[in-house]
Amino acid sequence: MSLLDSALVRLLPAVPKPVVQLFSSRYIAGATLAEAVECVRELNAGGKLATVDVLGEEITREEETRAIAQAYRDVFAAIDEAALDSNVSVKLTALGLDLSYELCRENLVDVVRTAAGYGNFVRVDMEDSSTTDETLRVYRELREEGHDNLGIVLQARLRRTLDDVNALADLRPSVRLCKGIYLEPGTIAFTDYEAVRANFLGCLDGLLDAGCYVGVATHDEWLIGESLARISRRGLRPLEYELQMLLGVREERRDELVAEGHRLRVYVPFGEHWYGYSLRRLQENPAMAGTIARATAGRVLRLSR
Ligand SMILES: Cc1cc2nc3c(=O)[nH]c(=O)nc-3n(C[C@H](O)[C@H](O)[C@H](O)COP(=O)(O)OP(=O)(O)OC[C@H]3O[C@@H](n4cnc5c(N)ncnc54)[C@H](O)[C@@H]3O)c2cc1C
Repeated sequence: MSLLDSALVRLLPAVPKPVVQLFSSRYIAGATLAEAVECVRELNAGGKLATVDVLGEEITREEETRAIAQAYRDVFAAIDEAALDSNVSVKLTALGLDLSYELCRENLVDVVRTAAGYGNFVRVDMEDSSTTDETLRVYRELREEGHDNLGIVLQARLRRTLDDVNALADLRPSVRLCKGIYLEPGTIAFTDYEAVRANFLGCLDGLLDAGCYVGVATHDEWLIGESLARISRRGLRPLEYELQMLLGVREERRDELVAEGHRLRVYVPFGEHWYGYSLRRLQENPAMAGTIARATAGRVLRLSR
């Protein structure tokens, strides 16, 4: 991304919501469960797995967290009814983490139990670093209570992650490994691109050494290659790992990886709370963010003349 684009990307929150919606529609299945089901059906038909995310950030009331938990119950029923190959991803703040740990835990147990009833699986997304300790805590508590249909996400951007890999090893967790979208200060995170990549591979090695099932979640071609080389050197079979990508990103590459015989899962967000997710996706799209921000800056400048 050029310096100009990077500067313009910071203007994105000033972009009118309808414009953001227009440009971000490729990253979101739609506002309704029916649209998410349709999207997953198409992905499955193309040989891809899915993980469905009910968008729900910045939740501030208990009833909203209960509604999100209910929305996940509906997702499981829909997955089952349509015989789709998909699990779900949940954000703990959507289940009430900002309100109370106990409320969030209760909602998560509810979602995990429902999943188990359908023989399905729940992955807890990782949010910004203020939530890492509690996310890992609830993950351990639930696993120790016997909820085995639960996975976690670790972020290579954070300096602590290799320690977290080692601390979690006794649980043999199912882990989605990603770079981490939240920009964190240098005191706790690697800020250099190559350092994040190096930590990603170090963490991947640690997870594979511990016998964990890993979802390698990146669109970074170099990292995909290095990860697959490590997986291949260990002789893992296709059912023993997976690749993961976000809806709307690198679609041609997705198809190639599936054709090469890899399991590939696509993250499928849907729902009314699309704004925060959309901004994050646009901010990391090298071409798109600059285009939108430039178009909007031009509009603002014209209006101010
Ligand atoms: C399935 C999945 C789940 C995730 N879950 C989490 C999570 O729980 N917590 C968390 O913090 N982060 C999560 N992330 C986001 C992740 O941490 C990164 O922010 C994101 O994937 C971009 O990093 P990258 O590894 O693709 O590398 P980058 O270096 O950012 O991207 C590599 C290349 O991919 C392409 N690309 C990447 N993003 C886009 C985009 N939005 N639009 C168009 N092209 C793009 C570009 O060509 C870019 O040059 C998840 C990512 C995936 C794939």
